Amino acid sequence: MRSKLLCVPAALAMCLSVNAYAQDYPAANKSITFVLPYAAGGPTDKAARDLAQSMSKVMGGHSIVIDNSAGASGSIGANKVAKAPADGYTLLFTHIAQATLPSFFRNLPYNVEKDFEYLGLVSENPMNLIGRPNLPANNMGELVTWINANKGKINISNAGPGSASHLCGMLFQSTLKVDMTSVPYKGTAPAMTDLIGGQVDLMCDQTTTTIPQIEGKKVKSFAVTTPTRLSSPVLKDMPTMQEAGLKDFTVTIWQGLYAPKGTPAAVLKKLNDALKVAVKDPEFIRKQDAGGASVINDARNDPAGHKSFVMSEVNKWAPIIKSAGVYAD
Ligand code: ASP
Repeated sequence: MRSKLLCVPAALAMCLSVNAYAQDYPAANKSITFVLPYAAGGPTDKAARDLAQSMSKVMGGHSIVIDNSAGASGSIGANKVAKAPADGYTLLFTHIAQATLPSFFRNLPYNVEKDFEYLGLVSENPMNLIGRPNLPANNMGELVTWINANKGKINISNAGPGSASHLCGMLFQSTLKVDMTSVPYKGTAPAMTDLIGGQVDLMCDQTTTTIPQIEGKKVKSFAVTTPTRLSSPVLKDMPTMQEAGLKDFTVTIWQGLYAPKGTPAAVLKKLNDALKVAVKDPEFIRKQDAGGASVINDARNDPAGHKSFVMSEVNKWAPIIKSAGVYAD
């Protein structure tokens, strides 16, 4: 009661300024930035750019720019947004790393539950195990034979511990009971360049970026991580990991948008409203579909559904990651 009385004038002034702020948001002369925690040209970058284009359309052509703050498995970009002004102009676009990094990092400099406002999930991606073009194997059976004959010599690239490519590669190794040398990059775009060049042997990546490389015969494809085959013309004949004999092996990567904790509710609502219209944009849907991804169109488009899903993913991955005993500092 006492604090209520004391706070009235100040709180009222604050209320008025917050409302006025939200009415002006987004200001015509100020771009919104999506901080993207992986390298340009990778699948997360691509999904962020697709969403930025559709959200910008919904927001009357307002400028949305991408800031690739890559490194440390995506934690550098996420930390940048966790510490950014809570004004709706600096947002984080990231994927499953939001749920896995807390288990991989001993000292993650932000808290995924407390430091962000959840704005909604937008899409889901299958993963695809691919190999360098000169790998002496053309299907999963031949690949497993080659792996078993070359134990200790094989390397597998990824975007750092806790990234989608790392999780998928880790499950692949534990299913085969084989250890490979992990080669981390700031994202799977630079990792793809080295895979195409034959400097690394294998990688798991989202189908959105593997499809063009498979089509161009730049890499070899061995399996997809969905429970059933994909409808994409390039991957429709590609076996699932389960069909290829790797029992229970499924991985789905999801991505969504976050704001710093404390962003005004009216600003969050404007962003969430725009996101929900953007995921129904036929152009956004077409682009995801072409990459073998699917658009999320359910309760996870809303802040509450998004947050409870991410928390359930934190709990799902924690024991798997702990039992693998892989940590980053
Ligand atoms: N595909 C990446 C991952 O493995 C990240 C990226 O988009 O570059 O998590």
